Amino acid sequence: MMRIAIVALALAGMTVGLAEGRAVGSGPSLAVAANEARGEGGVEGGEQLGQIGKGVSVARKANEVRDLQMTDAEEQELGAEVSARIRTRYGVVQDAAVHRYLALVGTALAQGSTRPALPWTFIVLDTDGVNAFAAPGGYVHITRGALALIKNEAELAGVLGHEIIHVTEKHTIRAIQKSKAVQMGAAETLSGSSALMERAVTATYDNIVERGFGRGEENESDEMGVTLANKTGYAPSGLVGFLTTLKDRNKASTEKRGLFASHPEMQDRLDRITKLIAAKKLTATATVQPRYAKNITYKPVAVTAIATVDPGAAGLAGGDAVAEEKKAEDAKAAEKKEEPKKRGFGLSRMVPTGGGEKKQAQVTASGGARGVDPEKDSKGGSNPAVVAVKLVAADVAAFKKEGGLP
Ligand SMILES: [Zn+2]
Repeated sequence: MMRIAIVALALAGMTVGLAEGRAVGSGPSLAVAANEARGEGGVEGGEQLGQIGKGVSVARKANEVRDLQMTDAEEQELGAEVSARIRTRYGVVQDAAVHRYLALVGTALAQGSTRPALPWTFIVLDTDGVNAFAAPGGYVHITRGALALIKNEAELAGVLGHEIIHVTEKHTIRAIQKSKAVQMGAAETLSGSSALMERAVTATYDNIVERGFGRGEENESDEMGVTLANKTGYAPSGLVGFLTTLKDRNKASTEKRGLFASHPEMQDRLDRITKLIAAKKLTATATVQPRYAKNITYKPVAVTAIATVDPGAAGLAGGDAVAEEKKAEDAKAAEKKEEPKKRGFGLSRMVPTGGGEKKQAQVTASGGARGVDPEKDSKGGSNPAVVAVKLVAADVAAFKKEGGLP
């Protein structure tokens, strides 16, 4: 999958090079092509066959391009913009009490993480789809649908712990740094280039919502997240409990076409976590079920009953380089559609893209779209505003004490 993505990116690079009036052959990078075009005024696209010599000189300057770098402040800025895009896509539940509860559990966990000082923000997305997304800088999103399936606070801690680790280990940043679309010039900064920021936001959103992480990152998040939940005092089996619920949810699927149906990845994942809990002797016991039930009263919606939107219409706007890149990737993805999907290992990736699709098509206006994943492509609410929660240390301490957490 990664190899396909790189080919697509290289194609996108060429497209932009040409649009800028440069023929860059096998194109060293977007950033160089754009800089060169600016510096030299560019040439007409019709002359591109005569530009091979210049293409070589551009290639020599490839070392002036570097992978995306960012300061902590820029990570915040990027995360804030990505969160805004996720919130715009799914909407935010405008319920202060639910957000306060989520923030208390999330903050209790984050305090024990390697980046306790991040301005952690926990957001409930207004959709029936079951999902959770972590954006850089400490923005953790979980859907109303996921909260409805979760049975107790230890399960919630398992899911939030997993997402917190994606942030602390900078999984998303490392993933997008591999993308040529966000390479930067030697003198460029993320906060100083709105075009670069726009590309980075799009690449990050795409990584988090559309592609998911690789198996290595997912395993790391499972293992470190479970350890973090245990350290906070929650039964480490919480994540196992929730993933088992997800597994059962997908047993109802009759089609054997999706990732989940054809690969034993969920069972591998559960086995791996269970072994880890035994090997590391993780023995915390709090589940705090009554408090969860008191605060979260959402009812789950079956996969087949989730209203969806056309995945093509739900995503990203803009006619820039990344949109071109996305088009190229979509074309590749369409070609590959019938192959077993091995990428991705996140919450949404563990559910079949098969089962409910035909029924889904009947409940959506756009209908019929192949590859609709009801959990990811679920219809969302219309209000993207963050529900602010103000917590002081004493609030978190009291919350932990009430729940029997150390
Ligand atoms: Zn994950």
